Amino acid sequence: MTWRGERDMDLRGRIADLMPQAQEELAELVAIKSVADPRQFPPEECSRAAQWVLDHFAALGFDDARLAETPDGSNAVLGSRQCTRPDAPTVLLYAHYDVQPPLDDAAWQTPPFELVAKDGRWYGRGTADCKGNILMHLLALRALGEDVPVNLKLVVEGSEEQGTGGLEAFVVDNADLLRADTILVCDTGNAAVGQPAATVSLRGMVNVVVTVEALTSEVHSGMFGGAAPDALAALIAMLAGLRDSAGNTTIEGLDSTRRWEGQPYPPEQFRSDAGLLDGVQLLGDGSVSDMLWARPAVTVLGIDCPPVVGSAAAIVPKAAARLNLRIPPGLAPDVAKEALEAHLHRTAPWGVHVTIEVEATGSPFRATIDGPAYQAMGKAMMEAYDKPMATLGQGGSIPLCNVFTDTYPDAEIILMGVEEPQALIHAPNESVDPREISTMALTEALFLQRYAAATT
Ligand SMILES: [Zn+2]
Repeated sequence: MTWRGERDMDLRGRIADLMPQAQEELAELVAIKSVADPRQFPPEECSRAAQWVLDHFAALGFDDARLAETPDGSNAVLGSRQCTRPDAPTVLLYAHYDVQPPLDDAAWQTPPFELVAKDGRWYGRGTADCKGNILMHLLALRALGEDVPVNLKLVVEGSEEQGTGGLEAFVVDNADLLRADTILVCDTGNAAVGQPAATVSLRGMVNVVVTVEALTSEVHSGMFGGAAPDALAALIAMLAGLRDSAGNTTIEGLDSTRRWEGQPYPPEQFRSDAGLLDGVQLLGDGSVSDMLWARPAVTVLGIDCPPVVGSAAAIVPKAAARLNLRIPPGLAPDVAKEALEAHLHRTAPWGVHVTIEVEATGSPFRATIDGPAYQAMGKAMMEAYDKPMATLGQGGSIPLCNVFTDTYPDAEIILMGVEEPQALIHAPNESVDPREISTMALTEALFLQRYAAATT
């Protein structure tokens, strides 16, 4: 016991010593405006971020580190590092170097592309999602030094936030290049700061645009209103029919009674994380985690109709809405899409004309959590945090996880990282808690040791 404890203290101490350097490096990386959309930011920014990642992993023994162009034109950083034990398992480390755009510049309290340390957190776009996870990988490997007991592969992609699927297509075309026994998808986070967790379930989604037409053109609401059918009123009725009065999503054919079996999401914490106003109620009959991770949820993303300013006293002949339906594991996107389409057609009043365009669908994901890698990760989290690993769901989709599952059906896939709820990823004032970077780096280092010990 003692020698193991001393070694852990070593790792913990080494990571603590490495944190000032990690802060400087994260600041360099955050200063690179690597939004993978040339309409918003010059593509050279992504090239610089890719080169930064390549150089830093090349310096850690990834001798073959290189850029690989993916089908959407973005570059992924690839690399590998062999360990001396021939029977050692292979672990693929994943992250992405591109970031979300800053959105509303005025809503940021600090410059978005500058790491600013404030109140114990580091602010800046990408400090958590996902550049903080890149630093987590670097710290874990630096702390281990030469003593990495598994074979490593690396992929750090450059267009994750765009949904253009570059790496997804690349994986399918280059399956052997990234093949591994375990994949650490480091693009999620703990339940809260200091509460270790793996994300084991992701929702899928169906996006549609529904258009309602009732008249050939606008007509005066005084002369015709009352008898002439109103496309906007019809659309509002159809959208209202997607939920019951408690806020449950009630699409015929989709089960909205399932329960979440993993870690609960405390309602008070959720209220605070989501920024609910005083007196505003949570939706649905189930617990927060049931509603987020076990049941379908529909959101109206946008409506095309006359804006208030400039609207006339006229009946709207045509209106459209963009809908986002999130679906839990166990529900196929095709089934959900058909149920949503049928529901909208069925609830359309007055014989109005309804057309539905499907924009995108994505499958849900559920990790298999009874293998040696999950066991090793559970031990590593227990040692690093002195608390057991919880299993969380996540409301968003990561299509790459389904590609990994389909391409490497035997691989264990673990979603983890430094993006706990306070990080406000994708929003203004994104930040990371540096303790999450250091303790998750320790977790990763311990995991690599425990996993090697369990499989060789
Ligand atoms: Zn991310």
